[in-house]
Amino acid sequence: MFKNKKLILITILAVFLLILTACGNKAEELPQAKDTAFLMDTLVQMQAHGENAEVAVEESMERIREIENLMSKTIKSSDIYELNHNPKTKIQISQASMAVLKKALEYAKMTDGSFDPTIGALVELWGIGTEDAAVPTQSEIEKALSNTGYQYLKLYENSAKITNPGVKIDLGGIAKGYAAEEVKDVVQKHGIQHAFVNLGGNVLVIGNKVDGSPWKIGIQDPREGRGNVMAIVDAVDSTIVTSGNYERYFEENGKLYHHIINPETGYPARNNLLSASIISENSFDADALSTAVYVMGLEKGMNFIESLENVEVMFITEKLDVYLSSGLKDIIEITDSDFNIIEGESFAN
Ligand code: AMP
Ligand code: MG
Repeated sequence: MFKNKKLILITILAVFLLILTACGNKAEELPQAKDTAFLMDTLVQMQAHGENAEVAVEESMERIREIENLMSKTIKSSDIYELNHNPKTKIQISQASMAVLKKALEYAKMTDGSFDPTIGALVELWGIGTEDAAVPTQSEIEKALSNTGYQYLKLYENSAKITNPGVKIDLGGIAKGYAAEEVKDVVQKHGIQHAFVNLGGNVLVIGNKVDGSPWKIGIQDPREGRGNVMAIVDAVDSTIVTSGNYERYFEENGKLYHHIINPETGYPARNNLLSASIISENSFDADALSTAVYVMGLEKGMNFIESLENVEVMFITEKLDVYLSSGLKDIIEITDSDFNIIEGESFAN
């Protein structure tokens, strides 16, 4: 419980810094609206500038709430709850859940299962982020592993089915990215040209700042208990999504167990990474990618991202070494001298 509180505080601080930069211009004549709420299990914060800013922010928050109600694992009326509790049955689901399940399966295939939306049994077993978090026994892990595998999720036109009882869908690694893109649609429908939304480290900016300069997005220091920003990225119409081992975790016998599970081992991914941040245009894809490359690790993850167009990545290792993909070097500024940029491909063997 204490840990959770601390984590929320860190998020608020990181966001606060972001707002300071966001408001740092004098040319602001457009009406402005902002709001903060706890949705999708995280702190959501948004700001918009424009004639319809207020209604755009209100509708955006409402849309995020709707998405939570459709895709939460714990809300009993959600599509995902119904799917998880009625295996071997075709369940009618909303268009929104269908879009997310489809994209999740696409990334599961593309990443050879590093990203896997059927990770739910393992996530429940570990209970990370809940009061019951504990290291499971090996036989419990093996049982949950046998209930993991995206081949057990079948999608039809308006419905979906889990083919193996015990398999549980968990969209925690992708639904926030979908929500960010939905916010983009809502604000653009209202003619807003300057806005940002931050869903607990999943940041999307729309347009530039009111004065025409890029938004400055602060990337949080991934070290335990640090609330400061370690890098700043100039951003226009883009998204930065971070997956890290510091977001939800517990410690037992001096070992840290975090919330991103390697679907091959059934254990939290262990590869000397503190975090992986994806910078791209689309938050939906970036969310799946950040989780996937965190699981893949530095070398495999970097090669994978370099094979994609218009997607960049920053990895931070436990040694505070920072590895940037090729398109990122000119737009990121490391502001904390504890972190060292490693140039070139020196991570490769
Ligand atoms: P993120 O912060 O986007 O990396 O998402 C982490 C969340 O995604 C976790 O809290 C789980 O709900 C879920 N998750 C954990 N491991 C995986 C995985 N290998 N593939 C897909 N989702 C995962
Ligand atoms: Mg993710």
